[in-house]
Amino acid sequence: MKALEMQLPFIDLAAQQTRIRAALEKSILNVLDDGKYIMGPQVAQLEKQLADFCGAKHCLSCANGTDALQLALMALGVKAGDAVFVPSFTFAATAEVVPLVGATPVFVDVLPDTFNMDPESLKRAIAHARTLGLNPACVIPVDLFGLPADYDVLIPIARENGMKVIGDSAQGWGGVYKERITGSLCDITTTSFFPAKPLGCYGDGGALFTNDDELAKLIDSYRVHGKGSHKYYNERIGLNSRLDTLQAAILLEKLAIYADEVEARQEVAQRYSKGLSGHYETPFIPEGLKSIWAQYTLKLASGEEREAFQKRASAAGVPTVVYYPVPLHRQNAYKDFPADPAGLSVSDDLAGRVISLPMHPYLASQVQDGIISAVIG
Ligand SMILES: *Cc1c(COP(=O)(O)O)cnc(C)c1O
Repeated sequence: MKALEMQLPFIDLAAQQTRIRAALEKSILNVLDDGKYIMGPQVAQLEKQLADFCGAKHCLSCANGTDALQLALMALGVKAGDAVFVPSFTFAATAEVVPLVGATPVFVDVLPDTFNMDPESLKRAIAHARTLGLNPACVIPVDLFGLPADYDVLIPIARENGMKVIGDSAQGWGGVYKERITGSLCDITTTSFFPAKPLGCYGDGGALFTNDDELAKLIDSYRVHGKGSHKYYNERIGLNSRLDTLQAAILLEKLAIYADEVEARQEVAQRYSKGLSGHYETPFIPEGLKSIWAQYTLKLASGEEREAFQKRASAAGVPTVVYYPVPLHRQNAYKDFPADPAGLSVSDDLAGRVISLPMHPYLASQVQDGIISAVIG
């Protein structure tokens, strides 16, 4: 085992900045010159480009990916007495917004190969929610680690039960699902521009995508205090959730290289899989789908193997992260909400043995070879 010379970053934002530094500076200075810090022209420009990129009719930017989910629930009219079905193996924000609008999150298990929502578990959870007297209102599949959820299976289940679908694509926006791009598949798709996400800004940011004109109008109202035809006419209770013009200006430059970066991520992922398969269970990508590789996540044999793996990696200066060590249905904040009555054994199992490796578009092949030999041990 050959140790790498230095501590590697888990996500190298500096390499990207070096590449586009001059363009970023110019774009930021334009905002300072204009002085339009809130809803400046860069915001509308970015929304247009984001919508075009994924083939959605509307894009509405907002303050962060969590607000994007909450705004989606508000626009869909989700309320007390409603059940919203979310995977347990995800970042907390997916479930957190549900009680914030007065509804009840109901936890659904994920599939052992893709780590995305399990349709059979969803069906059991829907039946269970009904026995509890809840009204099934909405499903929020997550494109975990960058891989689109199985929308052609999940959306029909939602429709049969009279439900809407919000795609939480905070980790997967721009991924491909059978020739379509995430952002155009659900009633509403949300994403996050948190710096470490595949398309990140230099602070907080988020966006919603929809093809529905009415929903777009509602989201636009809810993100600015429930405004009506004039900003001091309030039609509904909303949020203050706008994307800063400065962040939009930064994102315009990052979006310009995003497709290229997504391709570079494919190469990095393929190199990992080539070097690690045979040693570890590498990520599974179903036919016709393309991950944007927000994370490269291995499934190890056991928690003990994971501990040994982490120790080896860390001794060689390779950072690793466990996404996610505790599934939401086991968290103090969420353990009393309903779940698939058959249990969430896959979520429990994955939390105990997954591990994510450094992943970003600027990971050089020699560095990656070092990581691979360090973790193989
Ligand atoms: C990051 C993330 C969010 C929340 O995004 P923020 O911009 O941090 O609020 C929501 N869902 C998932 C799956 C995420 O990974």
